[in-house]
Order: sequence, then C-alpha cells, then structure tokens
Amino acid sequence: MLSTTAQETSLELKKKQTRKSIKTIVERNLKQKKRGKMFSIVTATWNPISGCLYNCNYCWAKNFALTRLNTTKRYSKGFIPSLNESEFKVKFSKGELIFVSDMGDMFSEFISDEWIKQVLDHIRKFPETYFLFMTKNPKRYIDLLPYIPDNAILGATIETTSDEIIQIDQVSTAPFPSQRYEAMKSLNWDNKIISIEPVIDFDLNTFIKWIEDIKPFIVYVGYDNYRHKLREPTLEKTMNLMNKLADTAIVIKKTLRLSTSEDKLNSVNEGK
Ligand code: SF4
Repeated sequence: MLSTTAQETSLELKKKQTRKSIKTIVERNLKQKKRGKMFSIVTATWNPISGCLYNCNYCWAKNFALTRLNTTKRYSKGFIPSLNESEFKVKFSKGELIFVSDMGDMFSEFISDEWIKQVLDHIRKFPETYFLFMTKNPKRYIDLLPYIPDNAILGATIETTSDEIIQIDQVSTAPFPSQRYEAMKSLNWDNKIISIEPVIDFDLNTFIKWIEDIKPFIVYVGYDNYRHKLREPTLEKTMNLMNKLADTAIVIKKTLRLSTSEDKLNSVNEGK
C-alpha cells in the first residue's frame, strides 16, 4: 500500500502527464485545423445537455435551435435546458478533444448537479480523451470541482470588462463579466481557457490584469460573426489587447475585422 506522500507524488505525476498530453493535443490540433467559427483545438462536439436560459442577444446556438433545428425532437420545445440521455451511448477515442455542450451552458444555474455529475461520470470513462467545457457561470466549476476529472479543460467566456455595457445594452442575463473573472481567478485548475468572443468594448489595462490573474493557457479573441450591433472595440484596440495577452497565453484569432462603428464610418467615407 502506498504511503500518503507516495500517493500524493503519484497523483501529482499523473496530473503533470495529463497537462502535458493536453498541451500536445492542443498544439497538434492548432496545426491541423483551419481557423473557423468553432474553437480550433476541438475535434468534435457532444451535447449530453443542451439549451440555455441566459438569453445572450448574440447567441448563435439558440438561433440555430429555433430555426434550422426547430423540427427536431430535442428543440421542439425551444432552447430550454434538457438532458439528452441518448448521448450517453457515445464513446470517444484516445486523443480526441471534445467540446461538451456547445449548444447550451451546462454549468449554468438552470442545470441540476445531478445532470452535470452524470456527464462527468461519463467522461471519466474516457481518461485518454480530453473534454472542453465553456460557461458564463464559472463559479459552478468551483462548487463541483471535486467531481471534475483531470482530462477536463475548463473555460469561460468573458467578452468585456464592462458589467455596465452588458447591463445597459441588455446583452445577457448570465453572471456579469466581473463575477466570471473572480470565479476563474479563484479556480484552482491547470488547464483553463478564456474566450473573448464576441468581443465587446473593454478597458485595456483591466483586461490584461484579468487574464494575467486567471492564467489561462489559451485565449480566443474574435468579433461577433453575425453582426448583432454589439458595442465593439476598434480593431486597433483589439489587436493591442491580443498583442499584450500574447505575453501570458497562446492567443488565437477568430473573426477579426473593423468594428461595426468603424465599418459604418468606412462605408460613409467610401460613399456606399
Ligand atoms: S450562455 Fe451561451 S448558450 Fe447560453 S444564451 Fe449565452 S451564448 Fe447562448
């Protein structure tokens, strides 16, 4: 029987190995994948839980569910949270990196602990596969941390540093960006990701500090793909942020373009 110290050392070694494997797989996928609208490190998506009630005004998933998927059984009642039992038959291969519940927010307060634990129990059966979670309620990661297996990558979307813009422009009913920052900062996890997408105007120094405090290994940055008239920063400001963040994380560009206001100005100047 291993002594407590030996057990701790063995656990630490296992964690180190997992961290190394995740980094290797991420680097491989980044080399292979084309930059698209999805996270480029991901090899597939899996939706054991779908739907969300945060009502982000730019939510592509809700839009997709209520239009192209509205005749499917899963979304026949709308974008309400549901547990999709049939997904637990899915098996995963070694080295895959699966984005879990891209059609919802599995860690939102509308999802029961029981449902989340069912998903975590399933992924625990595939220790050589890696699973990416994204949420706008990262405090829930902390509440459920003892149940989360090492092969999970824990991510949060933080589109801006401004709670005011989110509130005044009625962007979302999810926890405010400052609350997400606090939770991600406190989250004791090796493999964290931050998505600044769709980027909304921000305070540059605050954002740099937030990312330094959170210590994600990857940061995604991109503009809204579907032009929801968000209050966007200028392209120069966004590029500046990305350059500064490159000192602390791998920064991956998503959609980059002139902000909506710059674009309008251009159109006027060009007499369009
Ligand atoms: S949190 Fe995600 S899934 Fe939920 S409404 Fe917002 S963008 Fe959509």
